[in-house]
Amino acid sequence: MTKMLITAGPTREYIDPVRYLSNASSGKMGYALASAGIKLGCDVTLISGPVSLEVPKDVKLIPVETAREMQIACFKHFKSADVIIMSAAVCDYRPLVKSKNKIKKNGKNFNLKLVQNPDILTSLGKKKGKDQTLVGFSLETNDLIKNANKKLFSKKCDFIIANMSKAVGSNYNKVWLLSKNGDVVNIPKMSKDDLSMVILSYILK
Ligand code: C5P
Repeated sequence: MTKMLITAGPTREYIDPVRYLSNASSGKMGYALASAGIKLGCDVTLISGPVSLEVPKDVKLIPVETAREMQIACFKHFKSADVIIMSAAVCDYRPLVKSKNKIKKNGKNFNLKLVQNPDILTSLGKKKGKDQTLVGFSLETNDLIKNANKKLFSKKCDFIIANMSKAVGSNYNKVWLLSKNGDVVNIPKMSKDDLSMVILSYILK
């Protein structure tokens, strides 16, 4: 049975106990991929940031909040996975310090110092075994194929799914599937459910 590891949703990077930085990711693409994986008979583990979606039946859910929690969970489950699909919108930066107490306003401007989060996909690309298939996403607002192609190689992926910011939160998506052998497959706009089946049919070939 093919073992699939999928990341989905946004991460939250806390400023204090009740405030965080995040992004608009709904998790719909990752959850649709998890559901498609189950339909195709795969064993699916889903590492998900906070979303308001129902977990597809038979999917093993590992809930996380921060990028660093997501990284720990990915490292734990990576070795035993045959196919790894990183669809999460991981926050690139986190506050340098998380205040223990709720930060109070004091009438002055507030400067937030950010540090870069680990790039989980890049670290998995370095650890990848030859029988593992690693798939990343690339969300771009400009030079889509060029930027996605750069990520395909810099992150040592087998495939990159390139999409545009219109995809965020939508039930539909239009993507290009770039493969490390140079193929670029233009997949028409369709529901994220249907698209997941098309993507998996390429990846599991
Ligand atoms: O570099 P960029 O963030 O555009 O790369 C997107 C891909 O890298 C996605 O597959 C995303 O899940 C993954 N990623 C990650 N860890 C990060 C940032 C992105 O795994 N810190």
